Amino acid sequence: MSNKYVYYFGNGKAEGRAEMKELLGGKGANLAEMTNLGIPVPPGFTISTEACDQYYKNNLSHSDEVKKQVTDNLERLEKEMGKKLGDADDPLLVSVRSGAAVSMPGMMDTVLNLGLNAKAVEGIAKNTGNVRFAWDAYRRFIQMFGDVVMGVPHHDFEKALNGVKDEKGVENDIDLDADDLKKVVEAYMKVYEKHVGKGFPQDPIEQLWAAIDAVFSSWNNERAIKYRQINKIGDLLGTAVNVQSMVFGNWSETSGTGVCFSRDPSTGEKYFYGEYLMNAQGEDVVAGIRTPQPLSSLEDTNPEVYKQLVDVKDRLEAHYKDMQDMEFTIQEGKLFLLQTRNGKRTGKAAVKIAVDLVSEGLIDKETAVTRVTADQLDQLLHPMISPKVKKTLKAMAKGLEASPGAAVGKVVFTAEDAEKWTEKGEKVVLVRNETSPEDIGGMHVSEGILTATGGMTSHAAVVARGMGTPCVAGCKAIVIDEKAKQFTVEGKVFKEGDVITLDGSDGEVYEGAVELEKPEIQGELDTLLGWADEIRHGAKREGVAEGFFVRANADLPEDARKAVEFGAEGIGLTRTEHMFFDEAKLGPFRRMIVADSLEERKEALKPILELQTEDFKGIFKAMDGKPVTVRLLDPPLHEFVPHTEAEVRALAKELGKDEEKLIKRVEGLKELNPMLGHRGCRLGITYPEVYDMQVEAIMSAAAQVAKEGVDVRPEIMIPLVGTYKELELLRANAEKVIQSVLEKTGSKVEYMIGTMIEIPRAALTSDQIAPHADFYSFGTNDLTQMTFGYSRDDVGTFVPEYIEKKILKEDPFQSLDTEGVGQLVKMGVEKGRSVKPDLKTGICGEHGGDPASIAFCYGAGLNYVSCSPYRVPIARLAAAQAVVAAGK
Ligand code: ADP
Ligand code: MG
Ligand code: MG
Repeated sequence: MSNKYVYYFGNGKAEGRAEMKELLGGKGANLAEMTNLGIPVPPGFTISTEACDQYYKNNLSHSDEVKKQVTDNLERLEKEMGKKLGDADDPLLVSVRSGAAVSMPGMMDTVLNLGLNAKAVEGIAKNTGNVRFAWDAYRRFIQMFGDVVMGVPHHDFEKALNGVKDEKGVENDIDLDADDLKKVVEAYMKVYEKHVGKGFPQDPIEQLWAAIDAVFSSWNNERAIKYRQINKIGDLLGTAVNVQSMVFGNWSETSGTGVCFSRDPSTGEKYFYGEYLMNAQGEDVVAGIRTPQPLSSLEDTNPEVYKQLVDVKDRLEAHYKDMQDMEFTIQEGKLFLLQTRNGKRTGKAAVKIAVDLVSEGLIDKETAVTRVTADQLDQLLHPMISPKVKKTLKAMAKGLEASPGAAVGKVVFTAEDAEKWTEKGEKVVLVRNETSPEDIGGMHVSEGILTATGGMTSHAAVVARGMGTPCVAGCKAIVIDEKAKQFTVEGKVFKEGDVITLDGSDGEVYEGAVELEKPEIQGELDTLLGWADEIRHGAKREGVAEGFFVRANADLPEDARKAVEFGAEGIGLTRTEHMFFDEAKLGPFRRMIVADSLEERKEALKPILELQTEDFKGIFKAMDGKPVTVRLLDPPLHEFVPHTEAEVRALAKELGKDEEKLIKRVEGLKELNPMLGHRGCRLGITYPEVYDMQVEAIMSAAAQVAKEGVDVRPEIMIPLVGTYKELELLRANAEKVIQSVLEKTGSKVEYMIGTMIEIPRAALTSDQIAPHADFYSFGTNDLTQMTFGYSRDDVGTFVPEYIEKKILKEDPFQSLDTEGVGQLVKMGVEKGRSVKPDLKTGICGEHGGDPASIAFCYGAGLNYVSCSPYRVPIARLAAAQAVVAAGK
């Protein structure tokens, strides 16, 4: 830790820089950067996150060093501004703003106008000649300080304010004059004293420290902790505090405040997008109290300021090389920037902006692929209403298109209910006037969010975009009665539990459930994924063949086609068990299982052979030119026979078998621990005719489609190998069948025989197994199961608690345990390649579609990952990101 805790910015120079986010928080680091760029920023200083960390370690107190540096910097600020905190003639006012390394919208609170007291308010009034403004600033400060710092209920201040408004018979704050505001201050003082037990602090230094403490404390308030949990933000020291001289958007009619984005955060369109309010301060714009105006009208009413703003926007975007989200204030026609950051955006916008920035020459393709997260891409693969269906619909209401994607769900009116209902397995749409930070949990679980008030930068809109949850905001046509748990649209009542559909892409809301469809890959998304492919294909690692590929797990021709459409470069896993489950095959297969002799078994398998051959032909055709890994039968036979005695008796009748004998036979198939029992290659060894039949089906299918001109590349995969002897034997069996098929058909088909590495022993003895395998596929589901000793089907009973208690960071069946299971993967690859340098390796577990696991696989030297068809685009992107990250 350094000894410097406070960093000054002002007078065109700052001690901090944009790169110092960890230390100064995002807000502080960017205020410093903007200052250095010569952009007008009100001067101030940032107290570092290290001071916050120390504050917690010191039992919620500041060290002498921190106190001294704050005092020194405050003096410096007073000097630069030529004003003093609390001065009776010309007082300095400051804001105290939180800001961590990662932006957390609405998580921590800001206090404005600090430094006002009974003397200073007169000073401001005198000095500005604007008495109303002075008292308005004072009453805002008492309210914010009371609420944020001392925990006085917001509501009580509102009541006091409404009391004065009612007395005067006006509706808006703006209709209150200076004398009214003095009354508000008086009433606020009473509210404050009632709750705090002592008068409002008149000493500005006391105010300042109380506010700093409050910001530091807010780091660990419930909302902030929850936000960090949901967004998996860990390992941060704390928040920084920014103490900054005030500029006033509520000074006059030529003053105002606003937020803007250098590009549209919803669509990514290169269009200067924002909202502002004249004669307003701070959070008025996002609070949704008054309806803000679009930036375009600033261009009409105040072209001078608008031009300045456009200029600043262009400079900031070119400097940060990314879309910026900015806060600005205009005081008496002069522009000040109060914040800039890389703007949060929808998945659609993320893709468009990344691609546009490349064509504008601001970033390269490698950077572009790192600009879109897996979650953002996931949004684009989410349901929408097809244009065809759309034409037939009539919206019952229309609001703002706040966050894209369509959602269907049952209406609930509180975040709490949203959480309760989803726990019961319901899909819900959260309907509120406006959301607030307390609603985070409920917003997270909702399919969609609908609000009646609030603009495009309202809390609901910003948070929903960040979460990728469809949202329609400011839907004025709906009138909510929260108490009665219902809303009305033009007289029609919708009760809690009624189903509605909303489309966050155009703001429309529909009665009932509308059919949704998955979108396609096209336009900019196609371009970006093309770049990702280019990057992956060119990946170079020592001792590994060039490229890093993405395959899909698909069992059916339809799935295989979908996978190719999504960009799969092969099939990493075709499970064959389902092929036995359809009507036509299950009968014969059961006959095979309960047969008394080898002859009878072979006879029973014959009809299945033909049917499976057809199945494989379908997949091979869909994957023309691409490798297809087919896994031979894996699950225990017991899964294929009926379980109740009555069903077994019925089966006996059907097969013409002795009922009692069959009951015994089926009984004999039962295992205490089938997952560790008679399955996988163990079946292939005890029932060789089953694997023989499957190999024959695969190769006959291959030979037939090859004759039709299909480029077919079968890879036969033997599951659950634990010792090389198993593979040696089964490979020899398979080769025999393959040779006979190829001879019979007179065709030449290139094939491979490999194995899954899914038993720890296989990884440990990989150098013995590799000589018998042309490829490995890491079956990380079983490998995780057996390495942890957790039954995958039973983890639900304890893993959630393990995660809560931090015994596990996350569910190892979702994200690969790189420390433990990962060692076995690495060892399997290394030992295997030590005897067979060009051994092809991949992964086909659930982890193949998880970005963190994909990055691990790249580092471990795997040639490909394989995942479900719908995850393929995400895997393509994540794989490219792994390649880019490794090259840095
Ligand atoms: P948040 O992180 O919630 O956006 P901020 O610290 O950015 O909180 O501040 C809240 C609002 O107050 C913003 O609109 C911001 O622009 C405004 N604000 C903060 N500091 C000042 C200041 N020194 N002068 C004028 N407005 C300010
Ligand atoms: Mg805030
Ligand atoms: Mg802000």
